[in-house]
Amino acid sequence: MRFSGLRVLKEGLTGNKGWTPHWRNPEPKAEYDVIIIGGGGHGLATAHYLASVHGITNVAVLEKGYLGGGNVGRNTTIVRANYGLPGNSEFYSHSLKLWEGLEEDLNYNVMHSQRGIINLFNSDGSRDAAARRGNQMASQGDDAQLLDTAALRKMLPYLDFDQTRFPIYGGLYHPRGGTARHDAVAWGFARAADQRGVDLIQQCEVTGIDVVDGVVKGVQTTRGPIRAKKIGITAAGRSSEVAAMAGMRLPIESHVLQAFVTEGLKPMIDTVITYEAGHFYISQSDKGGLVFGGSLDLYSSYASRGNLPMAEHVIESACTLMPAITKAKVLRSWGGIMDMSADGSPIIDKTHIDGLYVNCGWCYGGFKATPGSGHVFAHLMATGNPHRVATKHRLDRFRTGVGIMDEEASGSQHNLH
Ligand SMILES: Cc1cc2nc3c(=O)[nH]c(=O)nc-3n(C[C@H](O)[C@H](O)[C@H](O)COP(=O)(O)OP(=O)(O)OC[C@H]3O[C@@H](n4cnc5c(N)ncnc54)[C@H](O)[C@@H]3O)c2cc1C
Repeated sequence: MRFSGLRVLKEGLTGNKGWTPHWRNPEPKAEYDVIIIGGGGHGLATAHYLASVHGITNVAVLEKGYLGGGNVGRNTTIVRANYGLPGNSEFYSHSLKLWEGLEEDLNYNVMHSQRGIINLFNSDGSRDAAARRGNQMASQGDDAQLLDTAALRKMLPYLDFDQTRFPIYGGLYHPRGGTARHDAVAWGFARAADQRGVDLIQQCEVTGIDVVDGVVKGVQTTRGPIRAKKIGITAAGRSSEVAAMAGMRLPIESHVLQAFVTEGLKPMIDTVITYEAGHFYISQSDKGGLVFGGSLDLYSSYASRGNLPMAEHVIESACTLMPAITKAKVLRSWGGIMDMSADGSPIIDKTHIDGLYVNCGWCYGGFKATPGSGHVFAHLMATGNPHRVATKHRLDRFRTGVGIMDEEASGSQHNLH
């Protein structure tokens, strides 16, 4: 079934009886050409591009819970291409271009909204850093404008510019940045992959990876063994656990990141704002809730809920930046398990085991990477060679020290990225 305005009208007039399920619910087959472990955004996108770009359709995505129940459905939905380092810069630029054609490609409304992002800065030093980053973005072919406080006061009149804690000095504006509806992205990729014959198998936890003489042979799952010639791991916060099933130790730590949403309010914030000094970011969903978050909880955990000190810190930052928010009620908060790499940049690579590939280390920035990650991981798995925008995301950089991409210059401590 294709979605169109005409179809919505027809179904609306005929009692909405013609809609069919978005995807099938197949039983796992005994063998596939490719198995993807993890039905989050990256796994589903990989399956879609394997089928649509490379014609590889004998593929299963194995998900231990339900599609979209992981970080892809838990994030604060910010989409941007404002990275500075070679490697990341061209990769995220590639991903943003895929976002711009994604709804047509998937025939699905993922509510991609290029409402712009403004990264506020709060010191002379951070103004210099923002100017440098803006120049790097422009040299990559992306958009960036340095705004002074006069321009910002017109755009964001509800911020407290003269607060004594961190007065606002200006902002770096990225007009093509914005948001998308997170779970719709998972559903759109899932539906498109299913339509091309990919089996999406939910409630199917991978419990073991079979390797014989250095070659991957298949997986053990809660629904029985499944053989495969190639296996891709896209398990985000559980990447280390899954890779350990093949005897590998990844340079990843798992940390909790929380997010918050208020009750629905009238339109108030028409862009995404990040507040560097407080490490806080906020946007408004199309339903009206203010969606915001801050830093990691700063200790390793596999619990998808957060601690109260970080909740207090995030809400303090919100009140400092935007005093009007004190009148809003927080409706919900939740956590997600982040796959933090030691340099803050992702890993998209083959492993030393023939046929086994890893895609992880997305830290708290993997949502915007979803189409790019799936596209380049599918390329790697199909051709055996890295895509031209993902040559630097090598696993061995953490062993050799060559090619480390420490975007924020935070050093090797995972929770600081
Ligand atoms: C609160 C929060 C805010 C964020 N905000 C942003 C943001 O604004 N912008 C941005 O770009 N990024 C953001 N992120 C990061 C982003 O959500 C993640 O980097 C990205 O979603 C990770 O990729 P994924 O979608 O494939 O992960 P997931 O959706 O977590 O997918 C991994 C899947 O693997 C499955 N799995 C794990 N183990 C197994 C197993 N053994 N067998 C089978 N399946 C398994 C899991 O159940 C899960 O569904 C945020 C994350 C959080 C938690």
